[in-house]
Amino acid sequence: MHTYLSHLECSWCGASYNADRLWNVCPACDRPLLARYDLAAANMGFSTEMLRDRPPTLWRYAEMLPVRDPTYRLTLGEGYTPLLRLERLGAELGMTALYAKDESMNPTASFKARGLCMAVSRAAELGARALAIPSAGNAGSALAAYAARAGLPAHIFLPSDAPPIFVAEMRALGAEVTRVDGLITDCAQYVRAGAAEGRWFDVSTLREPYRVEGKKTMGYELAEQFGWVLPDVIIYPTGGGTGIVGMWKAFEEMEALGWIGPERPRMVSVQSAGCAPIVRAFEAGRETAEPWQNAMTIADGLRVPSAIGDFLILRALRDSSGTAIAVPDEEILDALREIGRTEGLLVAPEAAATVAALRRLRADGWIQRDERVVLFLTGSGLKYAHLLREA
Ligand SMILES: *Cc1c(COP(=O)(O)O)cnc(C)c1O
Ligand SMILES: [Zn+2]
Repeated sequence: MHTYLSHLECSWCGASYNADRLWNVCPACDRPLLARYDLAAANMGFSTEMLRDRPPTLWRYAEMLPVRDPTYRLTLGEGYTPLLRLERLGAELGMTALYAKDESMNPTASFKARGLCMAVSRAAELGARALAIPSAGNAGSALAAYAARAGLPAHIFLPSDAPPIFVAEMRALGAEVTRVDGLITDCAQYVRAGAAEGRWFDVSTLREPYRVEGKKTMGYELAEQFGWVLPDVIIYPTGGGTGIVGMWKAFEEMEALGWIGPERPRMVSVQSAGCAPIVRAFEAGRETAEPWQNAMTIADGLRVPSAIGDFLILRALRDSSGTAIAVPDEEILDALREIGRTEGLLVAPEAAATVAALRRLRADGWIQRDERVVLFLTGSGLKYAHLLREA
């Protein structure tokens, strides 16, 4: 299982860089760098049959992942999460083929494990000696776990109003936690300042090239679990947008590998009405998003006023004939109860937002009765007891 990783390419200006040293954003234009692979060689050497006897983790796609030396492939059992049929919720919404990808089954109970598993593995391989991250909660927990696994110190900056359970979890996993009076964008300033002083390597979303590589495995898994035919619609709760960007990249790669055809799902980005910069930019037909003022929502992971990968998210939405939709927090709470009651799934508010969005998209006819639709249930509800008390 050797990797076909070839180089890094800037997603904005196209400049290319040596993948075998540590990089953050493109030095020429400050935009995200993406990992590129020798797809022609991979088309000859990597096939779906080779997956058959591999363990059910995201490392089953190692040839299209960035870590070269297998001893650096950290694992806590991340990825290959269940693809569940949602018959009862589907029936309530007049749908015949509704599915959920249950990402709460990942280590530390959210899909952030995928990205941090990859970023920490690769940073360790390339010689990083300490790591830091701004987080709303789940990303920090995942970093804490994988940094512990790698034997590296982790520094986490999170808003002071983040649920206390996250702080306790991160500290129990050995991380150093700093609470910041402000939003995740304020936390990011501390991380960037420390990185500039050489205190640690910055693993913020899309500010290093490999979290998105971990997230892209959601796209590979969906294809594999559906028998190499992608669904019609993917509904995804969007903060920094790594998941949408990653899955879109996975689809391109799989087509080049000859694993899927040119068909693509319509990608739907869901945000909270209290912080919806991507929705506003999509509706205005803009290429990038303006920062959102006074961001406020119970869905902490969606409280991201500006995303460095905004243009990549917007491109994926438009190229897929998808859409972007904002849902109010009250609908998110109703949806949380609805999917719990009908399907036995206790989800994070970000995940519940996909259910609220689905309800609206069904009501206005954007989604048809028999279309195959996948909700990304990105995290567990167990760390959100403060919301459940009100439920
Ligand atoms: C971080 C997070 C999101 C947003 O994910 P992005 O890839 O940053 O857009 C959604 N749901 C949960 C549970 C999260 O923790
Ligand atoms: Zn560039």
